[in-house]
Amino acid sequence: MSLKSPSKMTSAADSLLITNVHLAHSDPTLAGKLWSVHCREGRVASVIPYSEKGSLPFSLTGTEVVDAGSGILLPSLCHSHIHLDKCFILDRCDLVSGDFNEAMDVTGAAKASFSLDKEDLLRRGQRLVRESVDCGVTSMRAHVEIDALVGFSGLDVALHLKEEAQLACHIQIAVFAQEALFPTAGDIDPGPNFRLLAEAVRRHGVEAVGSAPYIEPTIEHAKKNIALVFELASHSSLTLVDFHLDYNLDPNSEPLIYEVITQARNHCHSWKSEGPELFRRRITIGHATRLQLFSPDEWWHLRDAIGDLPITFVGLPNSDMYMQGRSQANQPLGPPRGTLRVPYLSDMYDIPVAMSVNNVENAFTPQGSVDPLALCTFGAAVFQAATKTDIQTLTKSVTITSKIAIGQANVPLDLCPQRGDSADFVILHGIQTLRQAVLNPPYDRTTIRNAIVVARRRTRRWIDEINYI
Ligand SMILES: [Zn+2]
Repeated sequence: MSLKSPSKMTSAADSLLITNVHLAHSDPTLAGKLWSVHCREGRVASVIPYSEKGSLPFSLTGTEVVDAGSGILLPSLCHSHIHLDKCFILDRCDLVSGDFNEAMDVTGAAKASFSLDKEDLLRRGQRLVRESVDCGVTSMRAHVEIDALVGFSGLDVALHLKEEAQLACHIQIAVFAQEALFPTAGDIDPGPNFRLLAEAVRRHGVEAVGSAPYIEPTIEHAKKNIALVFELASHSSLTLVDFHLDYNLDPNSEPLIYEVITQARNHCHSWKSEGPELFRRRITIGHATRLQLFSPDEWWHLRDAIGDLPITFVGLPNSDMYMQGRSQANQPLGPPRGTLRVPYLSDMYDIPVAMSVNNVENAFTPQGSVDPLALCTFGAAVFQAATKTDIQTLTKSVTITSKIAIGQANVPLDLCPQRGDSADFVILHGIQTLRQAVLNPPYDRTTIRNAIVVARRRTRRWIDEINYI
């Protein structure tokens, strides 16, 4: 995929027919059959059994045909939480301890050059978007940091990328305060980082606002941080807020999720999830590793406390597992599984949890690719989850649940396409089952957004060349 301008990236066809493809039916008989999915005007028009020689109930004139080669079609992937500005900077960060404070320090040093070299920000951002679309991603919540060190440099580049990639991927920009809004424990009023954030939310093209309350000097300041972000959203046109929250495994720390719930109820009744406009309002909670220490009673209590509030959790397993539990490194079994248990929470408490990549090649998350499906593979091991239900939950966490988490409109209800669904898909080639998609996802993929093929990624095997010679 290249990040072409919209005018150069238009479909020649009026409609799209995806043939010879498996679908993620839960019924094994239907899952074993091949199908054709016909899309018109960006939506699924019909899903019919595939027949090699059979006639179609519509004309193929003006239709682009994609033969999936008996691969499997899924809803497109979604990054519900990814940092667009601080990706691919590991080569400029020396890791000594590998802990969170070091990550803040070395990333801070790297950030000092952001405003001086916007070309570098652009190149790295383009790589992130390009590789993501190649994997099958058609939407993402892209966090860009706003603070006195970087100013609006990351935001300016993100706005450019949003425009540049608009046909291939919706880049939902979240202006984000990774740094403290209150400079010191003695501050009553927020400092320059907040004033910049308040200015950033008014920029055209910004869709969400977020912060990391845990970074504040005291718990009281963390609570004020939450209030300030809600106020920014309430006083602007933004309806999507995102907190990096409860990022610890300390049983003595107060879970701030309850502060978010209290403030959402007390200060903004508009945050309640009522009516068809529900998707437009969403409170997204990233990390939340502290909740892993909850007892069953505490989980039930939390579920009741959330009630009708449009809150969605996003686990960030690559980062959570790398960073959390380091104080237990010398225990016989090492650090615990410090990331939200996606299949378990869904099964036990009916709490849907999205998963996302968070960072790629930086000091917070040195390992892993941009591929959301890789999180599912990792999740099968971390969560010890590979039953049929687990596989479906894991797949939803990087597709449907992630799209809900970012407040996306027209999210499909099921992994199987239905008439009227948005025609946003990834075709996984060379495999036939959902289980394979999760446990051993293939490299070869085709990405479709709004019924337009926007990326094709294929392996080139050296053995083919030998045979050719
Ligand atoms: Zn993050």
